[in-house]
Amino acid sequence: MWRTSILTIFPDMFPGPLGLSLAGRALAAGVWALEATDIRAYATDKHRSVDDRPAGGGPGMVMRADVLASAVDAVAPADDPRPRLLMSPRGVPLTQARVAALVAAPGVVVLCGRFEGVDERVIAGRKFEEVSVGDFVLSGGEVAAFALLDACVRLLPGVMGKEASGAEESFAQGLLEYPQFTKPNLWEGHAIPEVLTSGDHAKVAAWRRDEAERLTRERRPDLWARHLGRAGGPGGSEKPGKGSAKKPGPEG
Ligand code: SAH
Repeated sequence: MWRTSILTIFPDMFPGPLGLSLAGRALAAGVWALEATDIRAYATDKHRSVDDRPAGGGPGMVMRADVLASAVDAVAPADDPRPRLLMSPRGVPLTQARVAALVAAPGVVVLCGRFEGVDERVIAGRKFEEVSVGDFVLSGGEVAAFALLDACVRLLPGVMGKEASGAEESFAQGLLEYPQFTKPNLWEGHAIPEVLTSGDHAKVAAWRRDEAERLTRERRPDLWARHLGRAGGPGGSEKPGKGSAKKPGPEG
């Protein structure tokens, strides 16, 4: 079982969206577990405060190191093998590769910041790594934690319907996914690209590969540059066994 411990001042937000659909069914089935801990329960003053004014002045409030550390220690003692992540706009941007690595761990401990963030000392003192879900600022780490956990849970064994859907989708091979179509064949005057209804699997694979490359080149020059480096660099070849990759075949 993949065990998650969430530290938050809003434990009622959980499991929230993770209680429905794929993630919710997997949660009910015991594929993964979620424990949301109320940081406020570890406050020591009579107002149960978890935050205070920033040292050096300035706007907002900062979450106290002592209260956070008590909460962390209660759910994840020093010998807990799970990675510890602090959701933070200053963090390393989350990637699909990182998500896959987290799924291979026994679970995660996730600290959700609020206010202006957390006292710097608790980050190093409790060995948290800062992880960002994008270059924008949320009002709290909870929504970021939903994104992180959702991305992880769907990769857990048995959660996604078809094993294959994980291997082909965006980022799995360093490319964005090709465009998808379904019925009706003709919609508002637009037909599905003919190759997709041709029944020629090699042609379909080649078309999808070309489209994935085109979209990545157009939309994400950063991913495209990395992809070229990987595919053309020393020792960098296609990963085997992904079906649709480079097969000698008619190029259209
Ligand atoms: N003052 C901080 C922002 C605090 S936002 C700064 O300028 O960097 C409050 C909390 O929301 C953060 O502590 C973090 O836990 C969460 N958060 C905000 N944006 C985030 C992002 N892009 N990724 C992950 N967590 C984020």
